Amino acid sequence: MFNNNIDLYKMLSLADGVAGRESEVREIIKKSVDSTNLKTWQDNFGNFYVQTKYNNSKKIMICAHMDEVGFLVKHITEDGFIYMQPLGGWWGHVLLGQNVTITSRKSGEKFRGVIGTTPSKGYNPDRVIEPSAMYVDIGAENIDAIIAMGIQPGDMITPYTIPEKLLDNNYLLGKAWDDRVNCGVLVHVMNEISNLSLKHYDIVGVGTAQEEVGTRGAKIAAETICPDIAIVLDVATAKDTPGADIYKNRILGRGPGISLYDKTAISSLELTDTIIEIAKDNNIPFQYDMLAGGGTDAGVIHISNGGIPTAVLTLGVRYCHSGASIVHMGDVEKMIELILQVIIELDKCSM
Ligand SMILES: [Zn+2]
Repeated sequence: MFNNNIDLYKMLSLADGVAGRESEVREIIKKSVDSTNLKTWQDNFGNFYVQTKYNNSKKIMICAHMDEVGFLVKHITEDGFIYMQPLGGWWGHVLLGQNVTITSRKSGEKFRGVIGTTPSKGYNPDRVIEPSAMYVDIGAENIDAIIAMGIQPGDMITPYTIPEKLLDNNYLLGKAWDDRVNCGVLVHVMNEISNLSLKHYDIVGVGTAQEEVGTRGAKIAAETICPDIAIVLDVATAKDTPGADIYKNRILGRGPGISLYDKTAISSLELTDTIIEIAKDNNIPFQYDMLAGGGTDAGVIHISNGGIPTAVLTLGVRYCHSGASIVHMGDVEKMIELILQVIIELDKCSM
């Protein structure tokens, strides 16, 4: 059933798209879904929708956010250095010396650079240097050279990392796995579903925009679709690295997470327990999850339209919110299996 199309995931990782600049990701999703059996459209905000054509009365909405954590060009100095406006949560420790791409919105052209800081501001072992004290060096002689290349304030800056399989082929290194890996899951799920015949539900997959700056696209998607059930797909930091946590959940290779709680949403107990039962009945490995430190699109979806039963499924990712993170393709495979089985079972009982 699972077509391990690693190229799709690599493409999604390589695509550059911070909040409000998700067009490259939208294009990949659009080109990758079955255009015969699925209808697609985009709303004014930038969310991308993929829907089955069953014309059933009820809807299940499945969301994965398209934006990655990154930056905008904030200020260009006379001598040709580019200061950054962070979009999403960044920790200074993971930034210095990292390769980045600046995408000119005028020409679409991409420029490589590296993040640096002024030595006098850095190299204090007791202090984490803030992103605001860092700049991108693209090797320009001065500001005029940068402007001449079509770079201007508001252009996006994203990490530059070539995705590749690691020692164990299941471990895939890349940038932006938060949440591009689930954009890939969404594509696979929608393509598989387009071959089924559901009786009660239409399925609407949504690539949401601007999650990393406050789950803004998901709010609009929930209002637009008014789903009967929502399933949010996101990632969270894996706890299987040295010294990470006494509570070792999100272990790579042990299956997707079923989240019961995050800072912005307590998952629907009825829906979540149903998903847990379905996973057990079908021998799909899963891990109980709680996102104690953050939230997902579920935060705004579950309190829209009078309350929508919402579940959150997670994939563990090592080094989340950095330029180089690791995901496990076995978990991806099980995630797809679980979602498909959940949809089939929910449709049987029309929960
Ligand atoms: Zn995320």
